Amino acid sequence: MPGWVLGLESTAHTLSFGAVTADGAALPACIDTLRPTEGGIHPRVAADHHRDVAGGLLDDLLSKHDLDLADLEAVAYSQGPGLGACLQVGAGIARALAVRHDVPLVGVNHCVAHIEIGRAECACDDPVLLYVSGGNTQVITRLDGRYRVLGETLDIGIGNMLDKFARRFGHPFPGGPVIEKEAARYLQGNPDARLAELELPFAVRGMDMAFSGVLTAATTMVERGVPFEAVCWSLQEHAFAACVEVAERAMAHAGKSELLLGGGVACNQRLRDMCSMMAEERMGTSHVPARYYCIDNGTMIARLGWLEHHAGRSTRLAGSAVDPQLRTDATPIIW
Ligand code: AMP
Ligand code: MG
Repeated sequence: MPGWVLGLESTAHTLSFGAVTADGAALPACIDTLRPTEGGIHPRVAADHHRDVAGGLLDDLLSKHDLDLADLEAVAYSQGPGLGACLQVGAGIARALAVRHDVPLVGVNHCVAHIEIGRAECACDDPVLLYVSGGNTQVITRLDGRYRVLGETLDIGIGNMLDKFARRFGHPFPGGPVIEKEAARYLQGNPDARLAELELPFAVRGMDMAFSGVLTAATTMVERGVPFEAVCWSLQEHAFAACVEVAERAMAHAGKSELLLGGGVACNQRLRDMCSMMAEERMGTSHVPARYYCIDNGTMIARLGWLEHHAGRSTRLAGSAVDPQLRTDATPIIW
């Protein structure tokens, strides 16, 4: 397939290779995620994991879609934000491939890639993105030629908060799906639970959010004997309501009618339902890409790389260093 673009994702626990065709169509990625059996993610351990699985994973992508590196048109990679050691593995592989095959290198912003794959897959034009992942929680929209962060977490990402809570009570990463199941089970057995929400701190601070307080409060509750599944339900309600509230204010402020979800926590059905309800009440629409495009994946990097490449932007080797703190509004929208 001539003219395809490769995308490498390596911001955190996931290494992924994805691709888009010459006309920008998304090809599902090959993904390998490090799942520590205990503790959180150590950047160096994750980087070693990425290095170990990279060769086999790239081969998988090539054979899955019958792609040939000789037909490559550009190589895109996550330049930031993320864990430095992990980013460097992806950048190193991307540089090597670009030089070896004499094609442009395109370093892209991971958060912007979540927006662009969502826009392409959900056919929405100018959304407010509620980006809810392990390390990030941001509300983003396009204003004056850039994607601007209108609200974000002041401490930990919402996914990280869910993972930490679950881990404390014996459930290894990823904790979000366990909490979702426990919450649903609790609601099934207690149809009136909606009326009896437990009291937890509300995570909104102006237009920003903060999740470490609600994590501590929820943890203490279970330690004091409140059933785990009951706290799971209330924790979801509180944390998701905070995100939805900030997203709603962002839509009102920026005058946007489309809401787009992205990031691993967007796999959660309760969050999806809350977003749909909010958007409908505002006479707007809520969109969620397929689950394998919500989680970190190489295809979204390839899609943004394709857009930037076709708009004439590439990254010189001298400017290809990774930036763990790369800001969403550092990328001018030239596509
Ligand atoms: P990401 O950082 O975007 O790769 O997404 C990983 C995060 O998504 C982890 O914190 C997971 O716990 C979380 N996650 C995945 N599935 C779900 C779910 N169904 N509900 C809540 N969180 C989830
Ligand atoms: Mg992500």
